[in-house]
Amino acid sequence: MINREGIASPAGDDLIGLLLDRVSAAVALFDRDMCYVACNDRWIADYKLGDTDIIGRSHYELFPQIKNEWRELHKRALAGESFAKDVDKYIHSNGTVSWIRWDLAPWHDADGGVKGVILLTEDLTDQIEEDLRSRILTEEMSLFIDIAEDMALCMLDDDGRITMWKSGAERMFGWTEAEAVGQSFECMFDAADRGRGLPLRQLKVARDIGSFRDRCWRIRKDGSRFLGEITISYIEGDKLLPSGFGHVVRDVTGEDLHARSLEASTVLLRSILDTVPDAMIVIDDRGIILSFSTTAEDLFGYKREEIIGQNVSVLMPSPDRELHDEYLARYHETGKPHVIGGRRRVLGLRKDGTVFPHTLRVGEATGGGQRMYAGFLHDLTETEAAEARLQELERELTHIARISEMGTLATAMAHELNQPLMAIGNMVQASSELIRGGGDQEVLNLVAGALEDAGHEAMRAGAIVKRLRSFVSRGELDRTIEDPGGLVRDACELVAADAKLRNIQIMIAIAEEAEAILVDRVQVQQVLLNLVRNATQAIVKDGTIAIDVRPDAGRMLFKVADSGPGVPAERISRLFEPFSTTKPEGMGMGLSICQTIVEAHGGKLWYEGDPDGGAAFLFTMPKLKEDEADAN
Ligand code: ADP
Repeated sequence: MINREGIASPAGDDLIGLLLDRVSAAVALFDRDMCYVACNDRWIADYKLGDTDIIGRSHYELFPQIKNEWRELHKRALAGESFAKDVDKYIHSNGTVSWIRWDLAPWHDADGGVKGVILLTEDLTDQIEEDLRSRILTEEMSLFIDIAEDMALCMLDDDGRITMWKSGAERMFGWTEAEAVGQSFECMFDAADRGRGLPLRQLKVARDIGSFRDRCWRIRKDGSRFLGEITISYIEGDKLLPSGFGHVVRDVTGEDLHARSLEASTVLLRSILDTVPDAMIVIDDRGIILSFSTTAEDLFGYKREEIIGQNVSVLMPSPDRELHDEYLARYHETGKPHVIGGRRRVLGLRKDGTVFPHTLRVGEATGGGQRMYAGFLHDLTETEAAEARLQELERELTHIARISEMGTLATAMAHELNQPLMAIGNMVQASSELIRGGGDQEVLNLVAGALEDAGHEAMRAGAIVKRLRSFVSRGELDRTIEDPGGLVRDACELVAADAKLRNIQIMIAIAEEAEAILVDRVQVQQVLLNLVRNATQAIVKDGTIAIDVRPDAGRMLFKVADSGPGVPAERISRLFEPFSTTKPEGMGMGLSICQTIVEAHGGKLWYEGDPDGGAAFLFTMPKLKEDEADAN
């Protein structure tokens, strides 16, 4: 109904009002004097006419600021012309600006005469501003994107997929827009960095704190690497745009400033490294030594000048020497660290060919445009020597402990030796008296028998003395194949006299299946002796000690149980600690020494309380392996 030619037939105010209110634009109908005939609500709103009664009033009266050019147009429209403009500026009386689209046309009566004009305006301000903003933004952005040779910008979506890739990025990385858009930005990282989850970590930092900024490596399409100063900014989403990231890279590989600061920090680093006790060796990603600290010089015997430039594998004995290049290649390929991060004990090879132990910690770093690894080495020669000394000391202590045991054992031993010696003395004396009295064959036979017995007793005394000597002599592990029953009986023999005095009965049960074991006889005897002696002391008087030997779970199990009071619950946890004793003359070393000995043999020693009050100590000894049985 409303067209360029105007309104064909204004058929009553109601109808016009109805029609006008259906139109989204602001519409006003004027008569030939430019007085309002009709307008819709939008007109009232757009031109802020509030509830002014405007019908019949002059347009120029309401808007005195209307420019002459407009007045001119109105006139021409009243003369039959039509005008329109897609975007025009309109300045409100308060000075604010609106952008409008307008359409001005005459309207005719039934005879074709111009009755007035119809003016239609549409407020485009929001739309235009939005448009303008985005146009400025795009403009600015492309300016910024292509501003410098060594800068590249791309946009990423929330998952790190590339959504915008401009010529700067193409120039820097080599991928075209078509290739890059839609890909994950992980394509700009090498396998090792991807393996370590670096891409997602960088996004996470950006998302968490707004932006991520660092110097790190990026990969070009052709696989080459360069050091980039990276800024990843998180762009929060709104109703229209989903959230994402801006990823700006500046190629700093050739950057002078960086090189200078690197040099400065290298000097600083060197002075620090030369004073720390750990040696430091820096290698590049091919294993070539780049830096060698003073401590490293001392450690390996190489001068810095002669070792820099060589492959670090010359500092390792086989098999690491041959495998090191492979380790590096594997790490580059898979990103799975082998030594990086952790601390491990490895062997080093000095210039003079000697091998020494050291710990190695490796860190990864980037600098001067390349990936580097810094190894921190700590010499273990001293530590391990100290450990060996400690072990030696422990053996000494065991030795001293044994000698002190001797003090208490001496009484028992004297008693033990006294018997055979007395017997020998008696028999030799009787024999000599018999012979002196002269005698026949019968007497001679008696004498011979007595001397034979004396001989046996002497042998027994000798055996006791020998055992005593071997008991106090210092023991390295001197393993021989031993019968467990024999070991138990020998040990018991040493306490037999004391046990008899205390009226303690010792019962020995050796299972038929008990097999020979490969042990240090004297040391295992000492364990047994200690346990049995502790048992006798715990019982004090009248009781039993049961010793039981049988195979158990692939080992030989020794059990020494007694009818004494047992170990009070609160003492059990400290039972095997050195110097834990309840005896006035005790040293509290016995059980701790026993434990050392049993563990040195690859066995275990533990305590089990008997609900009826007695104590039981159990220990295991590994069974003989077949090849050991053959070899011995
Ligand atoms: P020591 O005999 O010099 O005290 P040990 O290390 O051999 O050193 O024993 C430590 C402590 O363990 C003893 O003082 C005693 O309190 C306790 N103990 C050892 N064996 C027994 C046992 N069979 N019954 C009860 N207590 C025991």
